Amino acid sequence: MPEAKVQKINQKQQFFDLLSENDHEQVLICNDNATGLKAIIAIHNTTLGPALGGCRMWQYVSDYDALVDALRLSRGMTFKSAVAGLNLGGGKSVIIGDARTQKSEALLRRFGMFLNNLGGKYITAEDVGMGEQDMEFIGMESKFVSGLPEYSGGSGNPSPVTAYGTYLGLKAAIREATGSNSMEGRSAIVQGVGSVGLHLTKLLLKEGAKVYVHDIFDKAIKKAVDLGAEAISAEEVYTKNVDVYAPCALGATLNATTIPQLNCMVVAGAANNQLHNEDADGQALKNKGILYAPDFVINAGGIINVSLEVNGEYNYKKAMKMTERIYDTTLQIFKLAKNEDITTDQAARKLAEQRIQAIGHNRLFM
Ligand code: NAD
Repeated sequence: MPEAKVQKINQKQQFFDLLSENDHEQVLICNDNATGLKAIIAIHNTTLGPALGGCRMWQYVSDYDALVDALRLSRGMTFKSAVAGLNLGGGKSVIIGDARTQKSEALLRRFGMFLNNLGGKYITAEDVGMGEQDMEFIGMESKFVSGLPEYSGGSGNPSPVTAYGTYLGLKAAIREATGSNSMEGRSAIVQGVGSVGLHLTKLLLKEGAKVYVHDIFDKAIKKAVDLGAEAISAEEVYTKNVDVYAPCALGATLNATTIPQLNCMVVAGAANNQLHNEDADGQALKNKGILYAPDFVINAGGIINVSLEVNGEYNYKKAMKMTERIYDTTLQIFKLAKNEDITTDQAARKLAEQRIQAIGHNRLFM
């Protein structure tokens, strides 16, 4: 067999290995030269309902990195919706490019047309690099979009609700670690003060916590400092002695390099996929005595908010009430982890898998 052909087969097998590793259902690769759209839509599991998850626009180092990110993020959405008690599956999309310079109406509308190819199996929303107006452009071509502005009948940007849920999960973790859920007089590092991180900073400052912040953009730092936070360097994020480290930028910040440096009691933040290696890094945190509040449990406020819009029954009060359940769910996960001597991430995934299995069984009779 000519060498080129052998290579092709190997590459094909590697692609499907990536999908079968965590049992992903479907991936749609979208390309459009005219608008510059290069997007990947990953659907992990639709047992509980249509896959709902945000769209991220980011300048990935390689197409492979973008695919892996979409796969990891979509799987996280499956767990997130399952633990939050929603009738939604897990999906996520990524658009490759610089959100500040490469986003256009035409590109977003073309993306919306690709969503239609999936016939509602995947519904998009905001994620990093995407805002309400972008959802409006997508919505001009597709009804499979959520997180639309309130004036368009949508639920608006989910970030404040995500921040609120993250804050409650953080407080549950502090209670588990110290016996009191108060953040007054305690300290936290918020890494990434964008839409969610800035709101979380506000909530922590309001409660009387000392908040340190870091971001790669000076403008973002300034907004947080103006509220009363103190800026720290990138290195200090992992070494500073604080009560809580709250990752609110991108994922994989909990890894073999950073965990040995961490000098905190609790990790509780909004970023998706914080553990670079779920089992090994979850275990490393446990061994170090750092309590990890699983990201997909405590950052579910956004998906809860958006789920009500998708069901056509959006109501801010209801979204906040449902989000408040995150506090008890987080405590329940800590208890399960303790009882079974497993990591908190493993406990949260166990809870998600149990619900998917139970409801999936019921669906056989529908
Ligand atoms: P955002 O783009 O508004 O903010 C992210 C911030 O992180 C930006 O200010 C960016 O400059 C900063 N950043 C990026 N890399 C950094 C680094 N290495 N160090 C420090 N700062 C860095 O995004 P967002 O909507 O606030 O989301 C933040 C995180 O929370 C993401 O991981 C996202 O997937 C997750 N999340 C968001 C929501 C939501 O409702 N927006 C819901 C669930 C999870």
